[in-house]
Amino acid sequence: MSGRPCIKGIGVEALREQLAGLGAPRWRADQVAGWLYGRGVDDFGAMTDLGRELRARLEEGFAARALEIASARTSVDGTVKAVLRARDGALVESVLIPEPGRTTLCISTQVGCPLACAFCATGAMGFARNLRAAEIVDQVCQMRRLLPPGRRITNVVFMGMGEPLLNLPAVVAAARLLLHPKAFAMAPRRVTVSTVGIRGRIERLLREVPVNLAVSLHATTDEVRDLLVPHNRSYPLGDLLETLRGLEVLRRRRPVFFEYTLIAGVNDAVEDARRLAPLLRGIPAKLNVIPMNRHADSPLGPPDDARIDRFVGEVAASGLAVTLRRSRGPDIDAACGQLALRPPAAAAGAAAGG
Ligand code: SAH
Repeated sequence: MSGRPCIKGIGVEALREQLAGLGAPRWRADQVAGWLYGRGVDDFGAMTDLGRELRARLEEGFAARALEIASARTSVDGTVKAVLRARDGALVESVLIPEPGRTTLCISTQVGCPLACAFCATGAMGFARNLRAAEIVDQVCQMRRLLPPGRRITNVVFMGMGEPLLNLPAVVAAARLLLHPKAFAMAPRRVTVSTVGIRGRIERLLREVPVNLAVSLHATTDEVRDLLVPHNRSYPLGDLLETLRGLEVLRRRRPVFFEYTLIAGVNDAVEDARRLAPLLRGIPAKLNVIPMNRHADSPLGPPDDARIDRFVGEVAASGLAVTLRRSRGPDIDAACGQLALRPPAAAAGAAAGG
């Protein structure tokens, strides 16, 4: 693999500087960004309006691709999971989720994850390294090739492997490219970053880029959250929620999406459901309930349908906006918490819908 830096992680402003260094006028950067991100062209030679000289210089100086698709599988429900290989051989997963009226891409921010949440397969594989900004945005470029005809990516969620706020500079650079009018030109409300909450970093993220915020809550007491999300011991619920209440930046923004993975016998009691609305008071909140998807690394599992309905019903009755999230792609281990780079053979039998 060549040692040339990948051009994709470079912000549009920095790209202008780089191209100025190659003797090209600054507006050339907008053209290059249009090819790379707008049209998804990775071959500098095919960027026909750049001029031969500049095309050759770009070819010399940069690699266009940070990732290549190593394998991909499609679920019976249309969800596509791909394994992508970085230039150093590291592997990550991305998931395309076609739905009526929108297509969401779920992208990874780290190779593995250091948080070790009790119900998550990525946590069980441990942590290898942070992804670079180029590797985060190239998931969008490469996964676009797997879209069914007539579809385009309408939403991007940073909800794949890894904890985005433990890789903040790369995540911010990637999110800026998603929003930049000369790059992916996505609307801020179409881009969501999900986090368990890292002290000081939610504020930094939202100061730097106006994305949607999703917070992985999963419990209403520190006792239970300590067990499910070990990082809660460093940043307990009271501190996390106080941060969210205090965010000036949130007042002008959309609600915080709280994720709640529902686990049989752990966090699915009526008392848990009733504690949620009071706990989140003062925060513009929406709750997404995700029945736990089973996987081989955890003895935990989802409650039965009657218990799920009862939980969601209690939350709704308390006045908190709540949505039950249907599991997508569980037959190919593409559902939330199932991204662990398992080969298809080993995955057989482990899949169970939530
Ligand atoms: N580290 C970040 C980004 C990953 S998003 C975060 O935790 O927010 C991961 C989301 O997947 C979590 O919110 C959780 O709701 C969900 N998840 C993880 N494991 C799951 C499982 N086994 N079943 C259902 N949802 C799961």
